[in-house]
Amino acid sequence: MELKFAEADLAFQQQVREFIDTHWPESARQHVTRSPSHVHKQRPEERAWYDALLERGWAVPNWPVEHGGTDWSPTQRYIWDRETVNAYCPVRSPFGASMLAPVLQTWGTQLQQERFLPAIREERVQWCQGYSEPNAGSDLANLQTRAVRDGDQYIVNGTKIWTSSAHVADWIFALVRTDPEAPRKQQGISFLLIDMTSEGVEVSPIMLLGNLHSVNTVTFTDVRVPVENLVGEEDKGWTYAKGLLTHERTGIAMVARSQLALKRLRQYATDAQVDGGTLLDQDDFKRKVSEIDVELTALEMLELRTLASAQAGEAPGPESSLLKIRGTEIGQRIADLQIEALGYYAMPYPDQTLIDNEGAIGPDYGMPVLHDMFYGRASSVFGGSNEIQKNIIAKAVLGL
Ligand SMILES: Cc1cc2nc3c(=O)[nH]c(=O)nc-3n(C[C@H](O)[C@H](O)[C@H](O)COP(=O)(O)OP(=O)(O)OC[C@H]3O[C@@H](n4cnc5c(N)ncnc54)[C@H](O)[C@@H]3O)c2cc1C
Repeated sequence: MELKFAEADLAFQQQVREFIDTHWPESARQHVTRSPSHVHKQRPEERAWYDALLERGWAVPNWPVEHGGTDWSPTQRYIWDRETVNAYCPVRSPFGASMLAPVLQTWGTQLQQERFLPAIREERVQWCQGYSEPNAGSDLANLQTRAVRDGDQYIVNGTKIWTSSAHVADWIFALVRTDPEAPRKQQGISFLLIDMTSEGVEVSPIMLLGNLHSVNTVTFTDVRVPVENLVGEEDKGWTYAKGLLTHERTGIAMVARSQLALKRLRQYATDAQVDGGTLLDQDDFKRKVSEIDVELTALEMLELRTLASAQAGEAPGPESSLLKIRGTEIGQRIADLQIEALGYYAMPYPDQTLIDNEGAIGPDYGMPVLHDMFYGRASSVFGGSNEIQKNIIAKAVLGL
């Protein structure tokens, strides 16, 4: 594999850097927590960023060109990801642009594509994902939320749980049971698009570690949904749901993000003084950082291979599961080492007024680290837990 950028790629990288410097200048950059709880706070400069992307034609680089995407090569996508992560550019919610959009582009009607895709591309409408239920997580096909056809509407009843960003979302794409008599539980499931402002939709918060509000329960009581909001065929939703999950898992490796986190870790460990030197000078700590660095480089190679296959038109397969497991494990280990390096400077401040009046007791960069670590713990659970990914690999890759 050629590991050096070609001239044309270097020129592209330069263009990307210039674009970012113009539209997301140093003054706008800050490290915010990874929890999606901040998605509703679209700052004016973020809006300007999305508008600039639209104008440049770079709003949704991974979409097919006919839907407003780009024809970038895997290397160009890789450069884009790296540069935007390094500059702390705004992160789109994945639910619309990365998960629902490929489903609509493949199985949606012309009308659905025209109605929903532009607002996703423009980052004007927030979506959330209504898959999990109290008794249907890993065993998703066990879902019980019921949709009963009544003329040109469905009447939906049931409860979704762990729904990220439901409290700020305008729409939810939900898996519902339309045929409870189907011979297999994977059959008789449909994929519905539901307006969150519909009568009978109720959202209740679930507070996570660190008092983070990013997930919710969503209850549907006699919610009426027009039949035109059904994606694909009735009772065939499982096929679309599985297609979506492989897209979810590819993005979840978060290599560029982990590389940035590793860079920050090195900074924290260089600033931390131990025995007259820095923490990074300590053999034991240096070894742990180097080990992760090597594993992350290996993961990056795997991600590039997957990206190259995708570019060649192959749908993401079970290698998404490998990316998910390794990506989340590495991310969690970096977060643990960040806490180790920062010690009590990573503790959240109990009172904002104290910070306003006295300033932070340690470096400012310590403030979001514990929240990131807490939220990162969930990454090996959502998108299909890592244990389930191992089952998939055992079956699909090892043939067990
Ligand atoms: C922060 C966060 C955000 C989330 N966001 C969303 C969202 O937006 N939308 C959505 O629909 N869902 C979301 N989820 C739900 C997530 O997808 C589920 O939590 C996940 O699928 C696991 O399901 P469960 O919680 O019911 O656990 P269970 O399925 O009950 O699993 C419990 C434990 O048993 C293990 N286990 C279960 N079955 C097996 C098996 N066959 N073999 C080996 N081990 C097994 C699991 O790995 C896990 O460790 C989110 C979850 C979290 C934590």
